[in-house]
Amino acid sequence: SVPLSYFAGVARLSKASILVKGTTYIDKMARKIYAILFDKTGTITQGSLKVDKVVTKDISYEEFIKLLCHIESFSNHPIALSVTKEFKVKVDAQLVKEVKEYPGKGIEGVVDDKKVIAGTKEFLEENGVKIDIKEDFIASTAVYVGVDNKFCGYVVLKDFLRQDIKDTLNLLKKLETKTYLLTGDKKEAAEELASELKFDGIFSNLLPQDKVKIAEQIKKEAKNATVVFVGDGINDSPALAVCDVGISFAQNASSIATAAADVILLENSTVKILDLIQISRFVRRVVI
Ligand code: ADP
Ligand code: MG
Repeated sequence: SVPLSYFAGVARLSKASILVKGTTYIDKMARKIYAILFDKTGTITQGSLKVDKVVTKDISYEEFIKLLCHIESFSNHPIALSVTKEFKVKVDAQLVKEVKEYPGKGIEGVVDDKKVIAGTKEFLEENGVKIDIKEDFIASTAVYVGVDNKFCGYVVLKDFLRQDIKDTLNLLKKLETKTYLLTGDKKEAAEELASELKFDGIFSNLLPQDKVKIAEQIKKEAKNATVVFVGDGINDSPALAVCDVGISFAQNASSIATAAADVILLENSTVKILDLIQISRFVRRVVI
């Protein structure tokens, strides 16, 4: 049976805008926390990216934007939401067929009878789209676009750190909890963004299954201590499930991530993780 004070704990957490999907997670958060693993886009960043630049090749600007917005209107990825918001193209969903999204890679489909693919450089090249251009950016997030198997341009986006992330990492350091950044984005983009943050490690170019592998490795090091994953995307859901405690957000997170998470932060701030730790430790003391 579950001691009564656990229910008081759940109530106390919900008052602090933290939803826990079981009392076992209170126990896990009350223990020594070996490491917290953070996703990048939408987790340590605000996730509403600004379009910095559009470069097109052998296609008109209008056609490029039209095809990109039509395919991205079928994705909930922060990049897709930011692109469709920026260009305000009137999307005709009837024009779009055979859409397939690949978490951590991008999206493809048929728009107006043209084969459109948008995502990472590797994703396009895997699909036979050769990227024969020298990029004029380094440390930014980018979406590459191919039409009918031909590379036709890219969009460079800027993301911004959440205001609360620096405080959160500093407070975790005081608890002697290690912090890691795990992202599907490029190394340069991740390192530039995290340059003023003191992560114990940064892992980039990760597919969803790579995030799981790293999480499992860190869990081995942790022995019996807790390992937490914080993420918001479809690409994070396998890692959210494999860690002792998976944390996601109520706002702007993919429903697949919130389904896979054990704890949902109803307020859009990573500092809530420290409230979660503090309240869990208080509740645990009362139980013993
Ligand atoms: P993160 O781990 O930082 O949240 P993701 O794994 O979600 O990043 O995405 C990694 C990369 O894959 C992005 O930087 C982007 O280039 C590409 N990508 C993923 N989904 C999409 C999409 N819907 N549209 C365009 N690019 C995408
Ligand atoms: Mg994310």
